[in-house]
Amino acid sequence: MKTIKDFDFKNRKALVRVDFNVPQDENLKVTDNTRIVSVKPTVDKILSDGGSVILMTHLGRPKGEVSDQYSLKHILDEVASVLGRPVKFVEESIGDKAEQAAAKLLPGEILLLENLRFHNEEEKGDEAFAEKLSKLGDCYVNDAFGTAHRAHASTAVIAQFFPSTKFFGLLMEKELIAIDKVLHSGEKPVTAILGGSKVSTKITIIENILPAIDNLIIGGGMSFTFIKALGGKIGKSIVEEDKLGLAIEILEKAKQHHVEVYLPSDVVIADDFNNDAERKITEIGEIPEDWQGLDAGPKSREIFNDVLLNSRTILWNGPIGVFEMPNFAAGTIALGDSIAEATKLGAFSLVGGGDSVAFVKQFGYADKVSYVSTGGGAMLESLEGLELPGVAAING
Ligand code: AMP
Repeated sequence: MKTIKDFDFKNRKALVRVDFNVPQDENLKVTDNTRIVSVKPTVDKILSDGGSVILMTHLGRPKGEVSDQYSLKHILDEVASVLGRPVKFVEESIGDKAEQAAAKLLPGEILLLENLRFHNEEEKGDEAFAEKLSKLGDCYVNDAFGTAHRAHASTAVIAQFFPSTKFFGLLMEKELIAIDKVLHSGEKPVTAILGGSKVSTKITIIENILPAIDNLIIGGGMSFTFIKALGGKIGKSIVEEDKLGLAIEILEKAKQHHVEVYLPSDVVIADDFNNDAERKITEIGEIPEDWQGLDAGPKSREIFNDVLLNSRTILWNGPIGVFEMPNFAAGTIALGDSIAEATKLGAFSLVGGGDSVAFVKQFGYADKVSYVSTGGGAMLESLEGLELPGVAAING
């Protein structure tokens, strides 16, 4: 892996693609600065070598139009405060002003370019646009894992203009190592927990990870498609009727790969999809007609706990209950506890993909697992076995 660790940036101007697509409130103040915090080590390394940093990112979806709402000037103070240094700003990403600002940059200084998506060419992966950007620096660093699954001008196309001076930033390196542990190099037993609402969105992931894992825990809404396919009564629980055959196929494939599959054995059911609905616990395949399963039951939690405490590598994607409703969050909280405990015992745990990342942050598990991925789509595509364009561009 070509990372910035192997390069001396002294007197170099590094063009660093970051993902500062941060959430903002109605006054455009940054409400979660995780994405800025996570690239600080990369910026620090380049500056401490005696180089300078030109940060480029997109923010929101301005669709090729210049707009005040999506200007990066609104996040400038937060960027400077997180990086702990002054940050210069130029109100364009290509053009005379950008060139002058980049030319004037001294070692130890940081420049932030205006939103790349003010130009349609960015998302189109336009080569001429990428070439103009490339003129601003003399080496290229990609530390934008969150957009690494996009073949955009600044995330992939630009790399060709730096055949021997293109590198992964430290955040990209961490993300790629974490995925590699789950898919290739991690200690066994490897356990994957897949939850969430639908099996259809996770099929490619399941197929890709089966050769790499030892245990597969299937929870949440998607488990009911499996339970029904196996002949269980699921009442009004969420189900994908057209995926029943596929569920059986997945279970057969798991057997061929000697993967032990754990479905919930009991379930918290409700008479309505509502936090205040009446609740009961039943065996998983015995849900009465008008009821629906909304959380893993206590027996299931215990079984999952045993599997996790005996695992050395853990991947978690997707909640195993409707954790957004407090009365149906206990199963996912118990799972978080088990993963935290396994991590304490020395397992490597990776949490990746939308809702489980939201869960670990909201419920305070982010520091109790080994790694929380910063990229939703990019993480899922990596788990599907796809090579991300942003990764291929540096490796190629
Ligand atoms: P996904 O986006 O497919 O990963 O699904 C995440 C969503 O699945 C979360 O919003 C959960 O509330 C939801 N979910 C988890 N378990 C269930 C369930 N038993 N019934 C309905 N939705 C569920």
